[in-house]
Amino acid sequence: MSYKLFIPGPIAVSEKTLRAMAQPMIGHRSPDFVALYQSLQPDLQTLASTKDPVYLSTSSAWGVMEGSLRNVVKKKVLNCMNGAFSDKWYDVSLRCGKAATALKFEWGQPVDPEAVRRELATGAYDAITLIHNETSCGCMSDLPALMAVIRQFPEVISIVDTVSSFSAMPIKKDELGIDVLITGSQKALALPPGLALLSVSKRALDRAATMADRGYYFDFVEFQKNHEAGMTPSTPTISLIYALKSKLEDIKAEGIDNRHARHARLNQQVRDFIFSKGFKLFPKEGYGSVTLNCFANTQNIDLSALNKILKSKHHLVIDGGYGKLKGKTFRISNMGDETDATIASLLQSLESALAETPKLAS
Ligand SMILES: *Cc1c(COP(=O)(O)O)cnc(C)c1O
Repeated sequence: MSYKLFIPGPIAVSEKTLRAMAQPMIGHRSPDFVALYQSLQPDLQTLASTKDPVYLSTSSAWGVMEGSLRNVVKKKVLNCMNGAFSDKWYDVSLRCGKAATALKFEWGQPVDPEAVRRELATGAYDAITLIHNETSCGCMSDLPALMAVIRQFPEVISIVDTVSSFSAMPIKKDELGIDVLITGSQKALALPPGLALLSVSKRALDRAATMADRGYYFDFVEFQKNHEAGMTPSTPTISLIYALKSKLEDIKAEGIDNRHARHARLNQQVRDFIFSKGFKLFPKEGYGSVTLNCFANTQNIDLSALNKILKSKHHLVIDGGYGKLKGKTFRISNMGDETDATIASLLQSLESALAETPKLAS
């Protein structure tokens, strides 16, 4: 049975994108590959609002999230935590043998710029990790406000995960002073999983060059050296790079501003509808994500029953809560290729399925 994903990653992939992947292989050291790689750069740089190169990593986002730590953290990293992915990033810092501090906020609360300022002011840090859009709880921190604080600490290299927000809203890498911008393929970009993108500042590259134990596969210096030749360090996922090219054409055809506006509009449509059913947003007011909504299960409905109905009768799937929020929240993605029509159809299905969903005994 085929069904459509409205979970926040992986998300539904268009037929056009899938067809783009079904192209013949080319050698990854061939002039054809160099032409393909180089043709992507201007559009990727526009999307990231950067003059720095955008490297292509054959890995999921975690590959470069871990790799970034190994490339830039010499002294100590401040890991800002407000959800499952950012919590994990602290754990990964420790597993990489890095000195790290956990700056913790409740899931659903944004990262507080003043708390970041207080920590960085101790002078203990040379790097910070931040997740712009915490997909696990639908909480979007105020990236411009956070970067305004971080920019005041020139020794601190900023590593920012935009896995579920990249291309869905403006993220001005150079203007904000983001050193390492990371995204993955299967969320906001609506590609199949397996590719990560990262854009690295000169500062971060210079730091990397001084690091003794940065490894090979995610070495920034290797990425840069190969980038200069229009290539990747090792054999990349060429099929996904074809898909990325196709997606960049789609984005250009729609127009970036229109794409941003579409995400904001569809996000609000889902929000208004679910609010009308008596639910509330889980994250703090004013910090809800634009690419997904995470709702608190304030009506105490049986979310697994809801998903069963949605899947069997409406051929779609939403998310019933991440990790410790399972059953307590539900998440609906509006990222990628959704349109007014697909969201209208989703809401119609939800209308019908919610009417049939039992409440849990409290
Ligand atoms: C999904 C996600 C990740 C992890 O991505 P993988 O592709 O599983 O490595 C990291 N950060 C955020 C914000 C995510 O949504």
